[in-house]
Amino acid sequence: MPKIEFIDVTNRDGEQTARISLSKLQKTIINWLLDQMGVYQSEMGFPLTAHEANYINANVALTKQDCCDNGPLIKRIQLSGWSRALASDVKIAQERTNVEHFNLSISTSEQMLQWKFQGKFTNEDIIRMMVDSVVAAKEGGAITAGVNAEDASRTDLGFLIEFAQAGKEAGADRFRYCDTLGYDDPDSTAERIATLAKEVQMPIEMHCHNDLGLAVANSCAGAVACCKAGQDAYINTTVNGLGERAGNADLVSCVLALKYAAKWGNENWVTGAIDLSQAWKLAYYVSNAFGVPIPINQPGVGDNAFAHESGIHADGALKDRHNYELYDFESLGRGEIIHTQTGRVITAGAHSGASGLEYVYNQLDLGFRDEEHKREILKLAQLANLHNQAPLTKEELWFIYHCPDIAAQLMTVTV
Ligand SMILES: [Zn+2]
Repeated sequence: MPKIEFIDVTNRDGEQTARISLSKLQKTIINWLLDQMGVYQSEMGFPLTAHEANYINANVALTKQDCCDNGPLIKRIQLSGWSRALASDVKIAQERTNVEHFNLSISTSEQMLQWKFQGKFTNEDIIRMMVDSVVAAKEGGAITAGVNAEDASRTDLGFLIEFAQAGKEAGADRFRYCDTLGYDDPDSTAERIATLAKEVQMPIEMHCHNDLGLAVANSCAGAVACCKAGQDAYINTTVNGLGERAGNADLVSCVLALKYAAKWGNENWVTGAIDLSQAWKLAYYVSNAFGVPIPINQPGVGDNAFAHESGIHADGALKDRHNYELYDFESLGRGEIIHTQTGRVITAGAHSGASGLEYVYNQLDLGFRDEEHKREILKLAQLANLHNQAPLTKEELWFIYHCPDIAAQLMTVTV
């Protein structure tokens, strides 16, 4: 039976968003946490961009057995790079990085061909460039390559079928349907995706934006239609829905919708790899990393997602939680009481010294072998704080301790 997997694009679409950004260390921790949640692929960034190269190579190294103490740190998730569908870009990306998976993107709509490319390319040119980029990626050693039709929702369906078919014949592994402007609705999405899946017979990725508040609904409707047409589906998500303009489809909301909505929940489309119990930890890490609070009414992970005050609701929830809660807070990794230190706090930062750092690491039950080991980790923690401009989290401290060489590599930015 076809299944729905998730391809998270927080480290690409999320990070390219106006006014917000992530350090290379934060992007790495996000890849690691997405892996723990059972996400199929993380689109980790831009292998063509010079300042991404050390980070990308370091993260690919984290998927290998010999990466650090009990490697690999990143166990199942594929790490992919986004690139324009240009063979020349792919070649440079492959010279610069060890990225093993590509998503190759080109605009397909009449609007963009006329007004973005200014009429320079015909439909045939678009297909030829995409095919050349797939061939270049595969010849250069890429394990998988997906082809992305930018503005697919405003593209003639006949041309989209032709585009995806040509991609498949050139060796592409997935076709990404980009609702770049958030223009689709669940009905239009389901109809178009069912036709594409039947005609092209290849796995389809949904990439939906939220300009009409429909990103989650469209992503799920499209993915289910794809599965019903006999093909595996993938949903592009971001953590907390952050992304260009009004954002992308939120990862946790998509999983919840497919697990608990009236019809989809019973049809059991979601891959068994997803571990929803990691959701709360991931959502809060990403919120802090971006410096963007989670809305209190965010599905699953918002402060009010399981809060009741009004008399009838509180009474009902206390008698039986399923009177007013559709799913259990424990299933999202919630329920732990968080203690906030109101007395002395020692944080790890750019100006930390040896004894403060030792104290912080002792709180995590991690000790140093000797003075030299302590100095090495201290230097990296100071550097990490410079990158993050915030006290280091326990995940970041743990990672630096266990994978110091790779931490040093990814925090070294060369241009
Ligand atoms: Zn996008």
